Amino acid sequence: MFSISSCDYMRYLQSVAQRIAADKDYITKLDADTGDGDHWANINMGFEALVEAAAELSQLPICDCFRRIGMLMMSTIGGSSGVLYGGAYLAAAKAISGKDVIGPEELARVLCVMASDMMARGKSECGYKTMIDSLYPAAEAYSAALEAGLPDAEALTAMKKAAVAGAERTRDMEAVRGRASYQTNKGVGHLDPGAVTMSYQLETLADYVIGHVL
Ligand code: ADP
Ligand code: MG
Repeated sequence: MFSISSCDYMRYLQSVAQRIAADKDYITKLDADTGDGDHWANINMGFEALVEAAAELSQLPICDCFRRIGMLMMSTIGGSSGVLYGGAYLAAAKAISGKDVIGPEELARVLCVMASDMMARGKSECGYKTMIDSLYPAAEAYSAALEAGLPDAEALTAMKKAAVAGAERTRDMEAVRGRASYQTNKGVGHLDPGAVTMSYQLETLADYVIGHVL
């Protein structure tokens, strides 16, 4: 059984920050195709702020680290995604209140709570062509893998595969929420940018834990 500290978590976020920074043109184009083109700038700004705060946040118990991440994301990301990520991390912090580190059970709880919080706040469900289409199936797959007693690496791999497959499925969806829903064709034929950046985070999380924590 693994245990993730704030230090691990901030290192993981730094690795996400690098991936997002490197994909500026791709993510910007995804949001330009179906929205207003600012998703990369929004999310990149948030991750830059997290990297800047990493040394300080690494010292905290993980519950407080999540609370600070939520506050930072809320204030720096902007757009719909800032409120959704900020709220999700604050909800996750509450769900692991008092914890210094988190193991598989808490990680499953964190993913499920984040998905529920985003769904409630965004008035969204799976199939609405949003980042929830990556997060929700990933949270479900991870919980199911733990319940089935799969080894940690397999459970994390199932989680990341579900996240990536979920983001890919947004290509054929008609948007019900987000700016793509204002387009005449509802964004059909285009990936949802928020689902893609969500899948980056979940994929990197699985790879980080498998590679550095297990
Ligand atoms: P904005 O839409 O305000 O320009 P961003 O471009 O940063 O904000 O983020 C867009 C992403 O946010 C979308 O691709 C989608 O994944 C997500 N999103 C937008 N609205 C919602 C919502 N109501 N529920 C869930 N996710 C949403
Ligand atoms: Mg946008």
